Amino acid sequence: MDMDLVSRSGWGARAFRTPAGATPYGRARLGVKVHYLGTAYSDRPHDGCPGYVRSLQAQHMDGNGWSDIAYSFVVCTHGTVYEGRGLERRNAANGNTSLNDAHYAVCALLGASGLTEPPDAQLHGMRDAIEHCRGEGPAGDEIARHADGFATACPGPALTSWVRAGAPRPSGGGSGGSGGSTTHTVRAGETLSGIATAYPGVTWQQIAQANRIPAPYTIHPGQRLTIPAQRSAPVSHEPFPGASFFRVGTDSPIITRMGRRLVEEGCSHYRVGPGPRWSEADRRSYAAWQRKLGFTGADADGIPGRTSWDRLRVPRG
Ligand SMILES: [Zn+2]
Ligand SMILES: [Zn+2]
Repeated sequence: MDMDLVSRSGWGARAFRTPAGATPYGRARLGVKVHYLGTAYSDRPHDGCPGYVRSLQAQHMDGNGWSDIAYSFVVCTHGTVYEGRGLERRNAANGNTSLNDAHYAVCALLGASGLTEPPDAQLHGMRDAIEHCRGEGPAGDEIARHADGFATACPGPALTSWVRAGAPRPSGGGSGGSGGSTTHTVRAGETLSGIATAYPGVTWQQIAQANRIPAPYTIHPGQRLTIPAQRSAPVSHEPFPGASFFRVGTDSPIITRMGRRLVEEGCSHYRVGPGPRWSEADRRSYAAWQRKLGFTGADADGIPGRTSWDRLRVPRG
């Protein structure tokens, strides 16, 4: 998987003050609270983002007198996730100790003025951070706003709409973003394809993509699904089929079309093919593509993740 996560040392964080900055969470986290900066913010080239996160930490430590940057994670407009207090240490952003103990705090570098609309990449990054908290935190499924339970304008109108829509990933390629999407709560016995028939113009693959549901596309009763807005133009690129799709035994024309794109990108490790059966040559070729995008280590293991897959733009069959 290829979330772009920058550790504290990666962005040059200062050491936090102890003992307050080292306080662990006292109970299970219910989920994540979404924040924005609430100040003026101008977008900037990505090489300026680590410095901005450092300035945010300095403001919190030197201006506010806190023990560290307040947030658990910070997400820049380019979709990179910066580790703040991270998964182990209680955040200081949600309003009071009880609120801080109940949810992680993820902040978008987004302003109350200046840049106020999150780019698609940032929403993907926010979703990456939320799923990281859920999976590794661990944390429950709640996605709420700073303003839920505390008197504040945070996270502003754009992210409020996004959270109310279920915090969906942007529907790639369209200009409509997440606007117009609705939520569907799964009932017992329902399948993705069955649900899709209730929403004309939306395919089950689009629902799987919008909710980042991997093969074999398991859903459960009570699960809240974002139903993407119906789009007038058909999707022209293959939606991400989930990391577990890419394993020995998979035999699909998607693999062939993926391989052709990897060849076009100069990432070929094929001696024959590419063909429909997932192979070591596919994995090595895909790893070359991940490295071409700048991923390293486990993020360049040759197993496709959503970010690298969406950038590859595999044509649909
Ligand atoms: Zn906030
Ligand atoms: Zn950035």
